[in-house]
Amino acid sequence: RTVYLNGAFLPENEARLSIFDRGFLFGDGIYEVTAVLGGKLIDSAMHMARLQRSVGEIGGRLPITTDEIVAIEKRLVEANHLTEGLVYLQYTRGVEDRNFFYSEDLEPTLVLFTQAKTLEHVAAVEKGLKVKSMPDQRWARRDIKSVCLLPQVLAKRAAKAEGFDEAWLVEDGMVTEGASSTAYVVTRDGRIVTRANSHATLPGCTRLAVLDLAREAGLVLEERPFSVEEAKTAAEAWLTSASNFIVSITNIDGVAVGDGMPGPMFKRLRTLYMENARRTAI
Ligand code: PLP
Repeated sequence: RTVYLNGAFLPENEARLSIFDRGFLFGDGIYEVTAVLGGKLIDSAMHMARLQRSVGEIGGRLPITTDEIVAIEKRLVEANHLTEGLVYLQYTRGVEDRNFFYSEDLEPTLVLFTQAKTLEHVAAVEKGLKVKSMPDQRWARRDIKSVCLLPQVLAKRAAKAEGFDEAWLVEDGMVTEGASSTAYVVTRDGRIVTRANSHATLPGCTRLAVLDLAREAGLVLEERPFSVEEAKTAAEAWLTSASNFIVSITNIDGVAVGDGMPGPMFKRLRTLYMENARRTAI
């Protein structure tokens, strides 16, 4: 693979980064993951807007413009003949001898690479996914897409050990979100429920797109927290993320949701989302 590192396009085994990078030593960095379908970037403008925001919230500064970043992403997609998969981007504050305090003149680190992956036609679309609920052990600024992902790694490990596909994180009795996805339920009278954006969750780019499409379709949205109990007895449950788009959750903690199969509202939104994603891809 060709990867990008601080201005250079390199074969992946030639890309070298210092052990003093603050991303490595402190998790002092931000990341983004953008889907690629048909060789084009999905929801790109939203990912760039969130990147800008996350970097700003940690008092950082992108070394190049988001237009330049998009051009790099397109060049990597082309160089690697990527038709379907992901582009990963990581920004860190830069390289300096280890010290919590940092110099203001650090050159940030910017790394991008692609990953080939089937995203659209996957078994989960037909079968749904199983989630396990567990306490949300993350920090209080989950709206920042920080590379400090240890709580998510541990949550996913615990979920996988019991045969689940994803963890749903719970705080004060309410689901915040998935370990790497936004969480939804559909009530028995057809209302789509997901938390409002706040410091408690990451503002999902896929969430933004899906909720816009739901509104356009005249569906009823309720932005509020919900409990695991409400989800277990809901008509449907879903998750959204850049790497899954929208998929149905058919089992929570071993309890089937609805009839245990992806429901009609999911199918409708999945179709709307995939159509829109391809139409707006760049
Ligand atoms: N919530 C968390 C904690 C995530 O890590 C992610 C994606 O990785 C999401 C939500 C979904 O965000 P997006 O739709 O932008 O991928």
